[in-house]
Amino acid sequence: MLRQLFDRATCTYTYVLADRGQAIIIDPVVDHADRDTELLQQLGLKLVAVLETHVHADHVTAAATLRERTGCQVVFGQDSGATGADVIVGDGDRIEFGARYVIARETPGHTAGCVSYVLDDLSMAFTGDTLFIRGCGRTDFQEGDARALYRSVHDKIFCLPDACRIYPGHDYKGRTVSTVGEERQFNPRLGGGRSETEFVAIMDSLNLSPPAKIKIAVPANLRAGAVA
Ligand code: FE
Repeated sequence: MLRQLFDRATCTYTYVLADRGQAIIIDPVVDHADRDTELLQQLGLKLVAVLETHVHADHVTAAATLRERTGCQVVFGQDSGATGADVIVGDGDRIEFGARYVIARETPGHTAGCVSYVLDDLSMAFTGDTLFIRGCGRTDFQEGDARALYRSVHDKIFCLPDACRIYPGHDYKGRTVSTVGEERQFNPRLGGGRSETEFVAIMDSLNLSPPAKIKIAVPANLRAGAVA
């Protein structure tokens, strides 16, 4: 079972995956900890793990709050620098729920510690801020690296089956899901045969302002959202 939840303030998606009464939640937002707890309770799901795709700069994670409420584990990528993790994952590591699991794929570029999570049968990939629908995460802070992001997407995501559904960490235009085949063809930055050099030039020319909450969010998220 999959549920996609939304934070309107930062256009962040949170995902609940469940099987046989056990659930994992990917990138929960602290402002919605009550909403997410209520959903899990109503559906009779025991939360086994919070999976963070990376240390977010735009919102604070609900990981520590959900861990306090449910006793679940908090999972981060091994290069995230997060001190609030219970489990650190690298390429190929599995996180199990019920009889299913997701596999971690390290996809650095937006941050050095970004991880995507791929469902056991390769039917879905949760790409965080590595790959968006027709876009990708910025690469201009938090050890961002456009070349690394290009390689992550091509080597770790675009090699998945065409039909594999892409569930991104954000969407700012109301889109909810895409597929690997669709992004390989239509992603204006990374698809359609764009070269690494072309991609780096695109990312270099973006000139984005920093997220409003970056100075609060990054230190809090390194602690998995726990109060200092
Ligand atoms: Fe991010």
